[in-house]
Amino acid sequence: MTIIEDLFIRKIIDSRGCPTVEVDVFTTTGFGRAAAPSGASVGTYEATAFPKNGVDSAINFFKKSVAPKLVGKNASNQRDVDATLHEIDGTEKFSKIGGNVAVALSIACAKASADAFCLPLYKYLGGSFASKLPKPLGNVLGGGKHAIGGPDIQEFLVTTFAPIKEAVFGNAEVHKKVKEELKHRFPGAAIGRGDEGAWVAHLGNEEALDVVSYACKTVSERTGFEIKPSLDFAASEFYKNGKYRYKDKTLGPEEQINFVAELVDKYGLYLVEDPLNENDFEGFAKLTEMIGDRCIVVGDDLFVTNKKRLEKGIKMGACNSILIKPNQIGTLTDMFETVSLAQSNRYIPVMSHRSGETTDDVIAHLAVAFGCPIIKTGVVGGERTAKLNELIRIGEKNG
Ligand code: PGA
Ligand code: ZN
Repeated sequence: MTIIEDLFIRKIIDSRGCPTVEVDVFTTTGFGRAAAPSGASVGTYEATAFPKNGVDSAINFFKKSVAPKLVGKNASNQRDVDATLHEIDGTEKFSKIGGNVAVALSIACAKASADAFCLPLYKYLGGSFASKLPKPLGNVLGGGKHAIGGPDIQEFLVTTFAPIKEAVFGNAEVHKKVKEELKHRFPGAAIGRGDEGAWVAHLGNEEALDVVSYACKTVSERTGFEIKPSLDFAASEFYKNGKYRYKDKTLGPEEQINFVAELVDKYGLYLVEDPLNENDFEGFAKLTEMIGDRCIVVGDDLFVTNKKRLEKGIKMGACNSILIKPNQIGTLTDMFETVSLAQSNRYIPVMSHRSGETTDDVIAHLAVAFGCPIIKTGVVGGERTAKLNELIRIGEKNG
């Protein structure tokens, strides 16, 4: 038994300079601390990060109405802890407690239990199944809501197919090559970095994909490892009144499906995320039918780590993969149920960071614990490398 004796919540700063929360859980036999990240391109159906009066009011609600109900509970009984959070909140989207407060508390309890058992979190949660390391997927060029003046497509990502300690450097080398190539192709133009450390330049979607694809090929030839590009369209962000509104063109739903399929084949894309708007289950099913045999089709805003939305997707054949963001759903139990449902239906769970991150490395542990074959967590920047370096450490322990 690891009985909760005290809980503490504090306001901390995230990688975008915005406030978020960190929760400490003190038990009779262990201590756990977890912080919550925040998104910029937030899905309509995900948990509300903070109640409408903001972080400070969420902190007050935690102190008055959440913490007292958890003292005396067994932190190792994750289902009970998480069920208590749902009972206190009573809404679908954690709009009273805040999904970010809920997830920090839920994960802090798991960490306190792992500490009590003297186990790393991935072993505590995953047991003997937790041995495989995920492939790192990271963005090297950005646009959409994460970058000003960049392409419409939000993320141009890469994956180096190699053991983790080489893969993180392969991805980093592509990141460097992209900068070099941008300087070469657009001499004198300003180049900056977006919210997740990816480069931002004033260029079109296909131009950007061309640069990234070229960088993948060049680094792949030098290292001998296969390196493939991927895209997160975050298409809901530029879908307005039934059309996909790019800066240089407007596409109807059918045309968007064909455009995505063309890019998949032209550039040999490994994965496409949110290529259609978050309500278009039928469109996702159609696209998956077209390209699902050669490309991973991921639902992020479509599923929002929510079991019910995933159930609907499975029935319709929408996507063959789901993005897993713990704070989209609010508790470890809910997240685990969604991952299990995905796995039993051969949907690939992709563990993911948010654009506004903290240095908490917990998603590295969750990816290993729950057997996610891919982790999307950026390439550079302290809040991203915290996760990558933790994966390197976990890799050492697993031989
Ligand atoms: P977000 O973006 O964290 O800003 O929501 C990440 C994503 O869309 O995958
Ligand atoms: Zn996304």
